[in-house]
Amino acid sequence: SPIPDYLTDVLRAVEPDQSGATADYIPELAQADPDRLAAALCTVDGHVYSAGDATAAFSIQSISKPFAYALALADRGFDAVLEKVSVEPSGNAFNEMSVEPETGRPLNPMINAGAIATHSLTGPLGATPDERVARVIDGLSAFAGRRLEIDESVYHSEIRHAYRNRSLANMLRAYDIIADDPLVAVAGYTRQCSVLVTTEDLAVMAGTLANRGVNPLTGRPVVSAEVVRQTLSVMATCGMYDGAGDWMTRVGVPAKSGVAGGLIGALPGQVGIATFSPRLDRHGNSVRGADLFTRFTADMGMHLMEVP
Ligand code: GLN
Repeated sequence: SPIPDYLTDVLRAVEPDQSGATADYIPELAQADPDRLAAALCTVDGHVYSAGDATAAFSIQSISKPFAYALALADRGFDAVLEKVSVEPSGNAFNEMSVEPETGRPLNPMINAGAIATHSLTGPLGATPDERVARVIDGLSAFAGRRLEIDESVYHSEIRHAYRNRSLANMLRAYDIIADDPLVAVAGYTRQCSVLVTTEDLAVMAGTLANRGVNPLTGRPVVSAEVVRQTLSVMATCGMYDGAGDWMTRVGVPAKSGVAGGLIGALPGQVGIATFSPRLDRHGNSVRGADLFTRFTADMGMHLMEVP
């Protein structure tokens, strides 16, 4: 296949760009090697292609959000989830206090307010906080097709400084959006963000979204096609935060970024894409990752609004 050579060439083209910076509000991420660079594709028929540091592990961070949202929809149903978390783009940064003024309902599940609420909607009604975390790790693992684990040092590094997420959780508790103690809610959400993945794992996870919720490697159904449609729609409108409009016009695939430098995109019926490069732009999106995605969708004619 010409794909691995193509991936290697594109990585080489973006490699010199040193702009941006690693996230500094999580000390463990600030220390990450900023030069690492990887890309991987997973087709819906189960081929994985990769180049660069594609088996290096890093924390999933906000890329967990669409998957946790999918699990919450599967576990609790659309009505119960929509009652607590809306699906409107906020136009705000990922850690903004974006809630509806009257109800306190977070605007969408991709920003932190919505993701903390979404985490609390995973697992069956009445699940304990530990059961919810276990459900999320099991679910993320099913999307990846292998057993994933939490990086405890990333978890502790983030939770010590999670004042902003705690204030979001307090606000959600005050509005009865979450029923948990706010500290417990933030702990569960932060554990979800601390799950270790590789670029290849992320490509398979995105490939599962591209493949109607069936993992292309294991053949196992993880969530329904309806859940995937909802999840990809929310990624398309809200996945890149206040950069979402620029992303959709320029790159044209539903996507999600994480502050450790990961980035995923899913083209329905075709392919899951993942990149990794830790230096971030001012929105918290990977600089070289965005460049790679722009090149991929242009070179391969993947923009969703373009007739193939
Ligand atoms: N755990 C991070 C936070 O809550 C995730 C943010 C992100 O990846 N954009 O701040």
